[in-house]
Amino acid sequence: MSGIYIHIPFCRRKCSYCNFHFSTQLKFKSQMIQSLIKELEIRNKEPENSNIKTLYLGGGTPSILNIQELVLIFDKVKENYNLSELEEITLEANPDDLTPEFLQNLKIQTPVNRLSIGIQSFFNEDLRLMNRAHNAEQAENCIKNAQKFGFKNISIDLIYGSQATTDEHWKSNLEKTLEMDIPHVSAYALTVEPKTAFEHQIRKGKIAPVDEEKQWKQFEILRDTLTKNGFVQYEFSNFGKEGFFSQHNISYWKNQAYLGVGPSAHSFDGKSQRSWNVANNIKYINALEKYELPSEKEILSEKEAYNEYIMLGLRTMWGICIAEIEQRFSEKFVRYFHRELENLEKENLVLINNEIITIHPECLFRTDGIISRLFFVD
Ligand code: SF4
Repeated sequence: MSGIYIHIPFCRRKCSYCNFHFSTQLKFKSQMIQSLIKELEIRNKEPENSNIKTLYLGGGTPSILNIQELVLIFDKVKENYNLSELEEITLEANPDDLTPEFLQNLKIQTPVNRLSIGIQSFFNEDLRLMNRAHNAEQAENCIKNAQKFGFKNISIDLIYGSQATTDEHWKSNLEKTLEMDIPHVSAYALTVEPKTAFEHQIRKGKIAPVDEEKQWKQFEILRDTLTKNGFVQYEFSNFGKEGFFSQHNISYWKNQAYLGVGPSAHSFDGKSQRSWNVANNIKYINALEKYELPSEKEILSEKEAYNEYIMLGLRTMWGICIAEIEQRFSEKFVRYFHRELENLEKENLVLINNEIITIHPECLFRTDGIISRLFFVD
C-alpha cells in the first residue's frame, strides 16, 4: 500500500519565505504535464507502487492547472495504477485560484476529495509581508465557496510568528478557523530559509529577525485553542478532527512507501531505498522527452534509518516504539538509545506507555532538542 505525490512546480509569485522548488515561468506548463504523464507511465511497474491508497498533488501550486490539465493527470494515474483502495485525493490550492467556477468543475469533473488551501492568514498585513498572491477577502471566500460546492475535507495552512502577526491576529485567525468549521489545520512557525526574500530583507536590516519567544507563545495559543475545540494534535504541526487526519502525510511519518513524481519529488520504497528527481524544470522535461528518469537514489545506512525513525516518529502522537527499535536496529544503536532515553525520562521530557515513547505535552516546544538527543552521531 502506498501513496503517490505529484509535484506541480509552478507558482504565480514567489512568497517571501518559500524555498520549495517552483518556477513562475508558466510557459512550460503544457510540456511539464506531458513529462509528468510520462513519468507516471514509466514508473507504474515499480512493485511498491502497486496498490495506491492516497494521491496528493502538491507544489508549487497545483491549482494553477486548469480543470482539463488536472483531468489529464488523474486519467493517467487511473490508467497506470491500481486504485481499488484509493481513499484520499488531495489538491493543494491557493485562494486566488479557487473561484466558484473552478471549485464547481473540480467537484464535478475530478476525483479530488480533499483540499489543502494555503491560507496562511486572514489578515492583509500578514499576507503582504509574506508576498502572498491573495488577500484576506479571497482567503475567506474560497473556503465558503469550497464548502458550498460540497468539499467537506478541507485543510488550511496557517503561519504564525511572523513579524506582522500579533497575538491578537493569531487568535483571530484561529477563531475564524473554528467559526468556519474547518476540520484540519497545518500550522507552521515562520522560518527564515536560505536564499529567500525574507533572509535577504533580514540580512539588510529591512525587517526585524523573527522573535522565537513570540513564536512559542503563538504555538501555545494554537495548541490550546485547537485542542480545546475538538482537534487532535496528531503531528507537531498538524491538527485534525477525528476522521480528517491527512492519510497521505501519515504514510510519510510511518515510513511507508511513496512514489514522488515531478521535478524535486522524493520517493521511498518503504524499506531502505530513497530517490529524488532533479529540481530543475527544463532538465526534468528534457530527460523525460527521451523517456529517461532524471533521478538519483541512495540506500539508507542503518544510522540514517535509525535517525529517520526517531525524527519522524517523535513528531507524531504515535511516537516511537521500544520493541521496534530493538528489533530493527543493531546492538550499538539499541544501547545508545536506552542510555539517552534514561536521561530524557529522568528529566521528564518524554512519556513512556506500553513501550511507546512520546514527547511530554508540556515539553513540545523542546521537540527538536529532544529528538537530537536521541540521534545517533558517530
Ligand atoms: S505558493 Fe506555496 S510553493 Fe509557491 S512560492 Fe508560495 S509558499 Fe512557495
